[in-house]
Amino acid sequence: MAIAIEGGFDGANPQDPGAIEQLGEASFLVHPFSEDGDGNYKFALNVRANNPADAAQPLHLEVDWADAEYMADRNFIHVGSGFRWAFQPAQVSGTRTIVDIVLPPGTSYIGLCPAYNLNDFLALSEMLVRFGYARQVAGQSEQGREIATFRLGNGPAPVLLTARFHPYETAASYCIAGLMRWLGQPFREQEALLKRYTFTILPMPNPDGVYLGLCKRTAIGGVDLPHEGADGKDATARALLALITSLRPAAWLDLHGWMHADEDGIDCHDQGLGERFRSAVCSPATRAVQGKPVPPDSAQQRSWASFAGNKWKLNLASGDPRPGSLHDYAFSQFGTAWLAVSYRWPGRTAQQMGALGGPTLQAFCAAL
Ligand SMILES: [Zn+2]
Repeated sequence: MAIAIEGGFDGANPQDPGAIEQLGEASFLVHPFSEDGDGNYKFALNVRANNPADAAQPLHLEVDWADAEYMADRNFIHVGSGFRWAFQPAQVSGTRTIVDIVLPPGTSYIGLCPAYNLNDFLALSEMLVRFGYARQVAGQSEQGREIATFRLGNGPAPVLLTARFHPYETAASYCIAGLMRWLGQPFREQEALLKRYTFTILPMPNPDGVYLGLCKRTAIGGVDLPHEGADGKDATARALLALITSLRPAAWLDLHGWMHADEDGIDCHDQGLGERFRSAVCSPATRAVQGKPVPPDSAQQRSWASFAGNKWKLNLASGDPRPGSLHDYAFSQFGTAWLAVSYRWPGRTAQQMGALGGPTLQAFCAAL
């Protein structure tokens, strides 16, 4: 029985069925979509593969990115669903990622990053309310989707947490989901934070971009939120700007993902804050969480799984406010101490990405 591959669902990339070509039996060529052609964010791929047989079957997949510059970062894929994803190294030839998969029976999703679609977030939302989070609607996106905030804590300092402004960066969604589950647990560390801070969390600030399977923006012709959001050019940007303005956050942790294979990223305007975060997140307590054994899917993954001595790339923003930057807007208006973290997928399972959430928040608060 024949394997079928499709796009066109919530979070899919490509959305256009014509962008998936069948080359032969169990052989497909996919053309991912980028809303603005920026190769540095062109990493969104999310297709659904259906194997109707009772047994695993081979699948040959080629993905043509139509971008030569960043092919070195497109040398793996993930196959799976939910929290179970298999990491698989892939060949790179020209502008194509080429991989032979043994596809299990039933439905699997295939992407560079494990998928995390809008529906996954809506399911999480219901659970968060049961954890004690107060859900509010900060506004609506251009396409009319709710932009929800979740509040927890009663401390004097307002802290903003955001994740996944850029839709392809699903690492941020897994991480913030784990962070919110961790913060909702009734233990001593969490209670100490909730007495010092009031957390306002936006786990899904770009619901249109995520639903449409985009790479970077809120829409075709839309906004790159962290870099252009302060211009208020669409409804999502205006909702975020209004939230920041009413919240006047003392601090802001902004979670991203990226495609660097062997290092994580820190962006901030304050070198001291960045260095304190880096040393706090690399503390022995944090490494113990990060260093849970990784399933030995491949030698490559084993070599990337060394969390002790994790590499961090620290990028300092200059003192000059960048036009459009939401981070710089918050700092210049309210003195907000902001820090953005970018996590890589290689060497981490979906569960481990979630397990980074609590330590990331603890390290950020310790660094303030
Ligand atoms: Zn990003």
